[in-house]
Amino acid sequence: MKTELLFPTPEALARAGELLRSGEVVGFPTETVYGLGANAMDEAAVEKIFAAKGRPGDNPLIVHIADADGLAPLIASEPGPHARALMDAFWPGPLTLIFPKSDLVPYGTTGGLDTVAVRMPSDPVANRLIALAGVPVAAPSANTSGRPSPTTAQHVLQDMDGKIEMIIDGGAVGIGVESTIVDVSVDVPTVLRPGAITMEMLKAVLGEVQIDPAILGPMSADVRPKAPGMKYKHYAPKADLTLVEPADGDMESADSLERMTRKVRQLAEEKLAEGFRVGIICTDESRGQYSNGLVRSIGSRKKRETVAHNLYGLLREFDDLKADYIFSESFPQDHLGQAIMNRLSKAAGYHIVKV
Ligand code: AMP
Ligand code: MG
Repeated sequence: MKTELLFPTPEALARAGELLRSGEVVGFPTETVYGLGANAMDEAAVEKIFAAKGRPGDNPLIVHIADADGLAPLIASEPGPHARALMDAFWPGPLTLIFPKSDLVPYGTTGGLDTVAVRMPSDPVANRLIALAGVPVAAPSANTSGRPSPTTAQHVLQDMDGKIEMIIDGGAVGIGVESTIVDVSVDVPTVLRPGAITMEMLKAVLGEVQIDPAILGPMSADVRPKAPGMKYKHYAPKADLTLVEPADGDMESADSLERMTRKVRQLAEEKLAEGFRVGIICTDESRGQYSNGLVRSIGSRKKRETVAHNLYGLLREFDDLKADYIFSESFPQDHLGQAIMNRLSKAAGYHIVKV
């Protein structure tokens, strides 16, 4: 199959919409990461997403809609007050909600679950494409399963060339990490994945919000994950990634930042001395502290938005540079920092060195 890479002209979007309607797979930009879309109501179309990604069949997909009218056919009953409040506050935008599913949504889309994940993207290209398709669009991140999510059309092409019909190139995405997922099918709304709609923002709307324990640390073998996707290693670079974190959790004082950079430098030097290719993820503030290895700044420590935006691109760059080991500084866990540290910790397989 020849994969076409097209800018989002009206003609290209019309053709992409037709492809989606006729059961084909299209890569497209959203405000979070690039998505790999197919008709969510067509089990055979959705199967092509799993095949292109090499994704396990029990890892459910998020269904994307263009407007509020798209929700009713997907869900079993009217949204409750929590769901309504969140939709009013954050849709369209980077928030996915979990509802009991209607009979129309195939189990192939939900990974066999009786719930369905739904999101209304704010990105104008995504929104236009879904509206033109005229069907709900199931779309996981457009990477090969287990690789870092794509934040540019070139990343999608790296993973999907020859496997899908078309990629719409809308340039670099805005946010750079996947949507926040909140389960509103339970009594107390529960965050299953942190994202740009932060815990602080959710609490301001809902009052009470729970956080799934799987977000905070590795899953123990005896816990059955709420979201099947949580049990898979995600967002992984090819290199062995280690995070270094101040043991007291303090990421403000000069002393703890200095301890952290010194440890990153020491671990990197050890592997360099053994002859390995070593990547270092630092910040604009600490860049001057490192002279050896493949040193890359992820942005200013003061700007969480920039760090989130650059994260996956940097992990892919280290793949291209054939790094054997990567050592990374850590970030505070508040606001968007929770999503950043969740992705970094998973990419590191929870290998975190405390200093
Ligand atoms: P991706 O689109 O690759 O970011 O993955 C979608 C994520 O949404 C996965 O981690 C899934 O586990 C989660 N998800 C999708 N549908 C559901 C659902 N019905 N219940 C819980 N989690 C879901
Ligand atoms: Mg993904």
